[in-house]
Amino acid sequence: MTARIIDGKAIAKTIETEVAQAIARLGFAPGLVAVRVGNDPASEVYVRSKAKKARELGLRGDELILPDSTSEADLLAHIDRLNRDDAVDGILVQLPLPPQIDPKKVIDSIDPAKDVDGFHPINVGKLHLGRPTLAPCTPAGIIRLIESTGVTIAGCNAVVIGRSDIVGKPMAALLLQANATVTIAHSRTRDLAAAVGGADIVVAAVGRPLLVTREMVKPGAIVIDVGMNRLEAGDAGRIAHDEEKSRLLAKNGTVLVGDVDFCRVREVAGWITPVPGGVGPMTIAMLMRNTVTAAEWRR
Ligand code: NAP
Repeated sequence: MTARIIDGKAIAKTIETEVAQAIARLGFAPGLVAVRVGNDPASEVYVRSKAKKARELGLRGDELILPDSTSEADLLAHIDRLNRDDAVDGILVQLPLPPQIDPKKVIDSIDPAKDVDGFHPINVGKLHLGRPTLAPCTPAGIIRLIESTGVTIAGCNAVVIGRSDIVGKPMAALLLQANATVTIAHSRTRDLAAAVGGADIVVAAVGRPLLVTREMVKPGAIVIDVGMNRLEAGDAGRIAHDEEKSRLLAKNGTVLVGDVDFCRVREVAGWITPVPGGVGPMTIAMLMRNTVTAAEWRR
């Protein structure tokens, strides 16, 4: 059996179409402001692509770029201004922040009604209470990927590997809300293989290449790979069994892999997401969805 591929790019496109239609119904362009402090190259790419995607879909997408030396007080003052600006529906602050700024204080300062990343403690609380809220984008996107298989989540055994505040914990909360029986595995889990082996749905959000192997996965399971790991030439031996990734590594000197040994796990899984092209495209699409939802609720 070879797993069916869950095409995150195609599913993200359908969400983008829904977003564009929702904006047309609203009759005004919701405003998203992406805040970046400093010049972290990855953050630069993320913030630019979020604002650009917003504009493509008919939102007002702005970037607020502040110098690396920005004080915590200055950043909080900017957020206060955005909180009070009625034309702004969504605020996101790209992490990581420079060391002089406490990210918790910053997240806590965002108006929960404009917190389109879903990281504010009020929104986290609502998520865990099962109340309507702005849910974190990556796990919310993953629910859509799982739903796309047509498998009913209710009653499934689901394992989430990783317990970060941005992926693992909210993922577990959303799966529980969808009536799965949820196990959360982490670095102290004694027997990861046993936890994964009983799961109909596996979500790997760790940041360790090839952690989930073919031997662990129950035949027919849905496997969602959140991990984004960059391998270099010295890692060639680790992916020698994967022709496609080896070819890319030889060609580019570097290759992106997930937390799942894709080429082997796909031989037993029922459905699987590739890296890239699985979870990644969903995150930005769900951010746009959250911004429109925030605009609908707030106005
Ligand atoms: P994180 O904050 O570093 O959390 C990693 C989690 O994995 C922790 O809970 C850790 O356990 C657990 N862990 C570490 N080693 C483990 C092991 N051997 N067995 C089981 N669990 C283990 O990472 P994150 O922010 O959640 O991100 C995870 C991955 O997803 C990264 O590769 C990141 O780049 C990627 N990501 C992708 C997207 C996307 O849109 N595609 C979005 C976000 C993140 P402890 O809590 O015990 O330390």
